[in-house]
Amino acid sequence: MTDTSFPAGDLLKGKRGLIMGVANKNSIAWGIAQQLAAQGAELAFSYQEALEKRVRGLAESIGQDFLIPADVTNDDEMEACFKTLQARWGTIDFLVHAIAFAGKDELQGSFTHNTTRLGFQRAMDISAFSFVDAAKRASAIMPSKENGGGAMVCLTYLGSERVVPNYNVMGVAKAALEASTRYIARDLGPEGIRVNAISAGPMRTLAMAGISGGKTLMKTGKDWSMLKEDTTMEGVAGAALYLLSDLGKSCTGEVLHVDAGFHAVGVPDISEDE
Ligand code: NAP
Repeated sequence: MTDTSFPAGDLLKGKRGLIMGVANKNSIAWGIAQQLAAQGAELAFSYQEALEKRVRGLAESIGQDFLIPADVTNDDEMEACFKTLQARWGTIDFLVHAIAFAGKDELQGSFTHNTTRLGFQRAMDISAFSFVDAAKRASAIMPSKENGGGAMVCLTYLGSERVVPNYNVMGVAKAALEASTRYIARDLGPEGIRVNAISAGPMRTLAMAGISGGKTLMKTGKDWSMLKEDTTMEGVAGAALYLLSDLGKSCTGEVLHVDAGFHAVGVPDISEDE
């Protein structure tokens, strides 16, 4: 399906989880799904109605057939999604949240002037609150601490911590998502559930295509990074595997940067600017 390769093994043998946010073969959620399946996990996919055919084709290509419609803004669909999971599996061991949305008009130009009340609310609802809601529902069907607990990851971006041109309201939503990750991690920690975020560098996906100046973000993300390379799907999916498997024991409430070191650069080498 892609030219990416994901190491096989049995780190997640016997584990089951929900993947939210596969739109196509370039989706970060799809890279993560392939990695988790290669390590023995059984997966369910939630999707927005219109995408069923595409998501079904991808899921079947890795031997998975459990698909559940769920628009994260729809309480009834979210309720039904987790009820369906519980009915078929009883419990789930992990949750992957790779969902975000902001209007195109808001992903360009002035944050101050272009952000409407409705646009702000929508970006926060879909990109941040949906993780709080999904975490609440998922934790209710995760095993007890004595029986292994569970793990969750969401996807974020550096625009939450620093100003990135055109990222605008999405940066604010990602800041809320990261703060939510820490609060959820504290609440669920005693239940043996670990909750972390992966801050991925720029990657060519549908969501990225919606951001004005995305090409510059990609180029800068590579040229100014420590590794002088693009963020790879293998790297992001590998981080998810670490955080969702027992490899990630003791790690919770963390925002793990997987961006070729870009986040830690203060000033790029002068020679790179010439
Ligand atoms: P993507 O393939 O477009 O995935 C975004 C997903 O969000 C899509 O499946 C989309 O479904 C879903 N979504 C949007 N609104 C929804 C709703 N109301 N209900 C349910 N699902 C909804 O793009 P991606 O880049 O892989 O994004 C995944 C995550 O990674 C996002 O949180 C994004 O912010 C984050 N991230 C991306 C990058 C990057 O450079 N690409 C970097 C760091 C973090 P529809 O297509 O049906 O709307």
